[in-house]
Amino acid sequence: MSESKMVEGGCLCGAVRFSVTLPSKWCAHCHCSMCQREHGAGYVTWVGFETEHFRLLSGDDQLSWYESSPGARRGFCSTCGSSMLFESDRWAGETHVALACPDGPIARKPQAHAFYDSHVNWTPVDDALEIFNG
Ligand SMILES: [Zn+2]
Ligand SMILES: [Zn+2]
Repeated sequence: MSESKMVEGGCLCGAVRFSVTLPSKWCAHCHCSMCQREHGAGYVTWVGFETEHFRLLSGDDQLSWYESSPGARRGFCSTCGSSMLFESDRWAGETHVALACPDGPIARKPQAHAFYDSHVNWTPVDDALEIFNG
């Protein structure tokens, strides 16, 4: 019997649906300025998967990719604008999924804060997680 578990997720309007197979690789809050702008939030919580564990179920024609910096791209729904995915040459072979998008729990809690050097001062962070700059 396999211990892998599939969790489905998608965008706000439902046009883009995907599944990810647990376990994930990591989960972290990202405070970089690009995540802030793209998601309209103080920081974005991402969960990382092997790209082979990510599967697009529907909305292939709705999922758009935007190159946010050289070698990095962000996937969003063309209809509702939900920002869902991130892939980068820096983390080749991984697909990062915005934790707000899976329908159910991913069996992992956020482990760290990344790019904390660009954090905003209007969203307090009062946990004891490890902090990384960059
Ligand atoms: Zn949508
Ligand atoms: Zn970021």
